[in-house]
Amino acid sequence: MTGHDDGRIVIALAEADDAEREKRRNAMGEPYRTLLGHFRHEIGHYYWDRLVRDRGRLQACRAVFGDDTADYAKALERHYREGGPENWQEHYVSQYATTHAWEDFAETWAHYLHIVDTMEMAAAYQLGFNVLGGDHDRRARAEGDPYEGGDFAETIAVWMPLTVALNSINRCMGLADLYPFVLSPAVVRKLEFIHDLVHDRIPPDEQGSQEAQPDTHSGEQTGEPALSGKGRKIDNGEGSQPAFFAQAGLEIRDSGELGEPSSDSAAPT
Ligand SMILES: [Zn+2]
Repeated sequence: MTGHDDGRIVIALAEADDAEREKRRNAMGEPYRTLLGHFRHEIGHYYWDRLVRDRGRLQACRAVFGDDTADYAKALERHYREGGPENWQEHYVSQYATTHAWEDFAETWAHYLHIVDTMEMAAAYQLGFNVLGGDHDRRARAEGDPYEGGDFAETIAVWMPLTVALNSINRCMGLADLYPFVLSPAVVRKLEFIHDLVHDRIPPDEQGSQEAQPDTHSGEQTGEPALSGKGRKIDNGEGSQPAFFAQAGLEIRDSGELGEPSSDSAAPT
């Protein structure tokens, strides 16, 4: 079971087993699946609560990630039955992100942390490299601190060729691509929203435009997608788990089972 409860993240123990995690990755057709990715995805749900829901950015976020009020259980069920749309790469960072606006946010959040962390390391080593291709080969260099919130377009302008270089190096060693992703312009826009959100540059919604939010979720499930994936439950006030979770063999634990006193809200997974 993987999920989070108000920021307390639980990762299924089996995911720590390389062979098992790789088996799941293959079964779900994912290019990337790591424990770090799971953590980053789950914490994305927590920060959606804190930075979007609780800080009056629901409308702004919906304009980028879509309608978060859509029925989550149905969306998840549809995803596991039909998968994502054929052209999902044009608008989403992963196939799992197509499931629901919450998952799109969490997947994009995780990806943003991948980029910032990796760029910081590249800058620490002052990585400079040739950008090959076309008639205008040039040099690029990772520098500065991406955590400081500079121009995200500049980060991406170095990130893209850096990942091409790193993938090429991996291939020389017969390894899989370090970065098995292609970022479309729409996905870069979503990443930029996360960047602006983190650095408090997204203006709050107009007063009165916010809707009451369903009080959260808590969910966990066994087989999950991409940067992490999971089942998530929205508390519909009836205190029961959606039938889909039971049918799918998913287990949702209440916060008490996490071994801690806790709030009665849970989290998207
Ligand atoms: Zn999730």
